[in-house]
Amino acid sequence: MRRYKEQESREFKRRKRKQAIRRKILGFCAFTFLLGVLCGRIVFAKGDKDFVETLAEYAQKDINEEKDLEPDIEAGVEGQGFSGNLLTAGEETQEEEAWKLTLVNKWNPVEEGYKPALAEIENNYYFDARAVGYLQEMLADGRRAGLDFWVCSAYRTVEKQTELFEDKVRRVTYETGLTGEAAREKAGTEVAYPGTSEHNLGLAVDIVARDYQILDEKQARTDEAQWLKENCWKYGFILRYPTDKTEETGIIFEPWHYRYVGEQAAKEIMEQGICLEEYLDAVQTHEKETSEKI
Ligand SMILES: [Zn+2]
Repeated sequence: MRRYKEQESREFKRRKRKQAIRRKILGFCAFTFLLGVLCGRIVFAKGDKDFVETLAEYAQKDINEEKDLEPDIEAGVEGQGFSGNLLTAGEETQEEEAWKLTLVNKWNPVEEGYKPALAEIENNYYFDARAVGYLQEMLADGRRAGLDFWVCSAYRTVEKQTELFEDKVRRVTYETGLTGEAAREKAGTEVAYPGTSEHNLGLAVDIVARDYQILDEKQARTDEAQWLKENCWKYGFILRYPTDKTEETGIIFEPWHYRYVGEQAAKEIMEQGICLEEYLDAVQTHEKETSEKI
């Protein structure tokens, strides 16, 4: 019996020891696990920090690179340090932008059946959709400066141009007594022959002062006409029929008629006081000389 009790007590102690060992193992495991989690967090946190720092570095690098670009762009404009291929760039641009310089006058009619994609300027007047934005910007800027523009003509179909021209011939006959070809010729200096008006091209617009809507030379004295003459080139427009270019253009002075040619050509034309015909002649001569040199 005693022996049994001793045995029981030994068994009890053994169990106790086993339990203690199990607790120690569990404790150790729990401690290791906790340690692991803690270390993991630190590592993750450090990783995150590094990652954030790396992102910050990249962002800064981008900013620096953008800053570095600025002087290059300016240098390009100044013509210094520009390493791009100017010739190729020029050729591509020329082809892309040829539509802006399409010549239409009494010797160069619009291609038969030509109809550009149109967009409304305002009040049911339409313009070539590729350039309408520049025109609207010009009108908006002028209006902000206090001017009161009135658009009185823009895109015209050839049929409409025929109507206007025939109307003009009748008026010339009534006023001067001229008839036949003589009357048509005289009318042709004021209203373009059907198919030979820039209004058929969709790149011309007639703008007058709202309080002086008469199409005569006095239009040039209005603030609206003066502002347009001074600022049109910034939006890619030119005063198409200046006072002293009737021989070249075939049209009398029209202070209300503006033509879109793109900013670069507009700047050169207005600065040099030439007309589109002279500008295109100069470009052609320059191209010929350049190709002869090559
Ligand atoms: Zn016009």
